[in-house]
Amino acid sequence: MLRLVDNKPYIRVSPPGPEAIKVLKKDARYISPSYTRAYPLVAQRGEGMMIEDPDGNRYLDLNAGVAVCTTGHCHPDIVRAIEEQSKTLIHMIGTDFYYRWQADAAQVLTEITPGKFAKKVFLANTGAEAVESGIKLARYAQRRPRMIAYIGCFHGRTMGALSLTASKAVQRRHFSPLLADVTHIPYPYCYRCIFNLSYPKCNFACLSYLEDVIFTKVAPPEDVSAIIVEPIQGEGGYIVPPDGYFQALKKITDKYGILLIVDEIQSGMGRTGKMFAIEYWKIEPDIICLGKGAASGMPFSAMVARAGLHKWPAGAHANTFGGNPVCCAAALKTIELLQESLVENARVCGNYLLKCLKNLQNKYDFIGDVRGKGLMVGVEIVKNRKTKTKDPERRNSIVQNAFKKGLLILGCGENTIRFCPPLIITKDDIDITMEIFGKVLRAR
Ligand code: PLP
Repeated sequence: MLRLVDNKPYIRVSPPGPEAIKVLKKDARYISPSYTRAYPLVAQRGEGMMIEDPDGNRYLDLNAGVAVCTTGHCHPDIVRAIEEQSKTLIHMIGTDFYYRWQADAAQVLTEITPGKFAKKVFLANTGAEAVESGIKLARYAQRRPRMIAYIGCFHGRTMGALSLTASKAVQRRHFSPLLADVTHIPYPYCYRCIFNLSYPKCNFACLSYLEDVIFTKVAPPEDVSAIIVEPIQGEGGYIVPPDGYFQALKKITDKYGILLIVDEIQSGMGRTGKMFAIEYWKIEPDIICLGKGAASGMPFSAMVARAGLHKWPAGAHANTFGGNPVCCAAALKTIELLQESLVENARVCGNYLLKCLKNLQNKYDFIGDVRGKGLMVGVEIVKNRKTKTKDPERRNSIVQNAFKKGLLILGCGENTIRFCPPLIITKDDIDITMEIFGKVLRAR
């Protein structure tokens, strides 16, 4: 079997090749058309930073299965942990019975999440499910019906989570009525400030809007159970709030007894160079949702909340597969690898990636903004830097052309390219990435 140890992409046949086409045809026949496929990549095998398709093309993966494969593809330690656990116990419904891996995973999560207070954990499978449990816990504990979320945010697609999501209209169209009483406020997207102000002179006008307009005219704060926020907006365009924002937000939530839920599903698990992105702003949220990268690709998510909030009785909330033993084993091993070296690698290589992309920005007027923390970096594509007019067509063609050259990157927001590679990435991988990405930009 061909080893994918050499991290150079290799395109044997222009994708999709004949074997890939067979899969695409079957997929078109049997799979729901509701999925959002970016380009016709058919993944056959993965190793480290590389993905191979059935025609033998090899791609350098700067997506990590959209911020999921934190430890790279098929990390030998993860494979071993999964193998060993699956020989011991695969399922015994953690909702109804007990097994130690569930409590072990929960304990570790309470230790690595910010907040030096007692916490308890609800284990689930997907990000949306973690968010659903956060919504339900906040309502149950607070007995307040309303929630505040952000324009541009993505929290998942189940009906509760979707009621918070405000990323793209297609995700909400024809699904109403959603949960009532969710109010969306502007995200601190300083590059395109909705109030046309600039930081720090703005004095966080977006937060004054929450207190002076929303709380006084739309959503009385004593009716609001929680504000949910992504510390870095992911699907919305890899947007990093300015320093001081979260501290000011926390003051508001504390003032009105509103819970702060932080959705770290994309930004968490070491991706930003800290275990959780919110740590950059030294905030201790009441509830943290995590998923995606937590178990290196196994379905595992969690809602970690102050222990005192878990006022709900047995039967109030549960599921069948949450905290599955094999997924817990993968999560425990993933966290070990993150703590050993990968969070630090995300910080170091993330800084390097950001620097390389900023160098490219100096060359191309259509790169409007380069931003990010660690290995969560966005490049916003515009018509030109002066007008900042969004250029989704150019963004899309850059992403497509990179794919054809063996580089897997993805869009987010309307006109941003995201880089969210496995946390095992090296500076050499970034150099290869820049070589291909530079060629794609030049060809435009
Ligand atoms: N929250 C955030 C911040 C996300 O990025 C996502 C997925 O992209 C979700 C929630 C939903 O996760 P899932 O697709 O696992 O339900």
